[in-house]
Amino acid sequence: MDATTTPATQVASVKLLIGGEFVESRTTEWRNVVNPATQEVLARVPFATPEEVNAAVASAKDAFKTWRKTPIGARARIFLKYQQLIREHMSELAAILTAEQGKTLPDAEGDVFRGLEVVEHAAGIGNLQLGELANNVANGVDTYTLLQPLGVCAGITPFNFPAMIPLWMFPMAIVTGNTFVLKPSEQDPMVTMRLCELALQAGIPPGVLNVIHGGEAVVNAICDHADIKAISFVGSTKVGTHVYNRASLTGKRVQCMMGAKNHAIVMPDANKEQTLNALAGAGFGAAGQRCMAVSVAVLVGEAQQWVPDLVAKAKTLKVGAGTEKGVDVGPLVSCAAHDRVTGLIERGEADGAKLELDGRKPTVAGYEKGNFVAPTIFSGVKPGMSIYEQEIFGPVLCLAGAESLDEAIEMINANPNGNGTAIFTQSGAAARRFQEEIDVGQVGINVPIPVPVPMFSFTGSRASKLGDLGPYGKQVIMFYTQTKTVTARWFDDDTISHGVNTTISLK
Ligand code: NAD
Repeated sequence: MDATTTPATQVASVKLLIGGEFVESRTTEWRNVVNPATQEVLARVPFATPEEVNAAVASAKDAFKTWRKTPIGARARIFLKYQQLIREHMSELAAILTAEQGKTLPDAEGDVFRGLEVVEHAAGIGNLQLGELANNVANGVDTYTLLQPLGVCAGITPFNFPAMIPLWMFPMAIVTGNTFVLKPSEQDPMVTMRLCELALQAGIPPGVLNVIHGGEAVVNAICDHADIKAISFVGSTKVGTHVYNRASLTGKRVQCMMGAKNHAIVMPDANKEQTLNALAGAGFGAAGQRCMAVSVAVLVGEAQQWVPDLVAKAKTLKVGAGTEKGVDVGPLVSCAAHDRVTGLIERGEADGAKLELDGRKPTVAGYEKGNFVAPTIFSGVKPGMSIYEQEIFGPVLCLAGAESLDEAIEMINANPNGNGTAIFTQSGAAARRFQEEIDVGQVGINVPIPVPVPMFSFTGSRASKLGDLGPYGKQVIMFYTQTKTVTARWFDDDTISHGVNTTISLK
């Protein structure tokens, strides 16, 4: 038994949200939500029963009957109000997030803020959910499209962005006229629940947004449920692939944003100080628990001499509880994550990579029980080593060498993942070559974490994504709507009559 399973009855329970009410689960299966810096149990989260899953879906199905017909302006105004409420509660939301997830308070605000941007975008739905019209496609005939909502949609989210990723999902699904069932990460559901409370306060009607908690059984029930039309999943490749396959079998539309191994290429002409800052921030920020974290830097030519400077830079980062001022690297989310990351560091050494900086067992005064791993750097990393093949999801940066840009591009394209990548260079020609040749969905040029803002879509590719359409941006309007194409002819006299038409042609 560890802190996540030890019975803790003295703490608050996380509620389900069904039909506009926050209700206590009747389940017998609970798990603790634990502060990763202290191991304090903050709350207990239920694993919803099959009846509760069905009740949430039924409430969403019922609410869809009226919500789908709610005028676009009324939907937009709820999200205008919602963005204001999120802004007003920013510090409170960040504090809840840091307590349960571990990241620093400024980074927790960033987590909320990047979700808030999607809420702002949702408020502009009047300009987004537009069909097309072609006038006079035949005599007196017009053709136009309606982008209609699908019905009940569901979202399944990971632990690492408990504010941003739920906000990628339910605002865009709901503002396009769908109703929603959200299944947050059972590791840190509290900030997500606070965001849902604020969403109801903003005016989302009962049943339009529902929340159920749980793990594998609840996720499988969502995949199988006949009344759910679409699922948005963000999480690991293993679970995402399972969700994609299982939910597709029942005819659902599914999008899965999954694991990563993001490489950055460092050209010898790059601005050295800015590049080292970017690598340290993107490799070790959020303790490496970002799907867009840089986990491999490919140093090209002379840039391979920069290893000692990078190590020196990494040593300047302060490790500690996310609530403490000046901290750069908080704890890993759980004891299990800590053990997995330190185990991979051991494997890296055993596989023959050179451990340039060992972040195991840092001393963090006052937080001796925290799941801390300090910045760790390996050089001489090669394909085939465990630290290269697996997503470490910790503050571990792997350094590889290449003699040319082409060799570095070849290495990245040979890796199965396609979430994010970046190049650091002062050469426009090198950057353009990289942009053209690299087979990764999100590309940064002197930008280490190129997560697109919401007027674009999140566009991971290859093994990092299943499904054609990404979350937010234009693509998500297509994901959450069904296009209906109407071909119409209105008669007011006989002037355009051609008699009986026995052909397929429009006359
Ligand atoms: P995870 O896959 O363990 O969990 C994701 C969700 O699936 C959670 O809600 C969880 O309850 C559920 N789940 C867990 N095990 C399950 C099982 N066996 N069957 C069914 N459902 C299950 O992911 P995580 O550890 O919470 O998050 C980290 C992962 O998410 C990393 O791989 C990271 O790269 C990825 N991620 C990807 C993106 C992206 O946009 N590509 C963004 C954030 C995180």
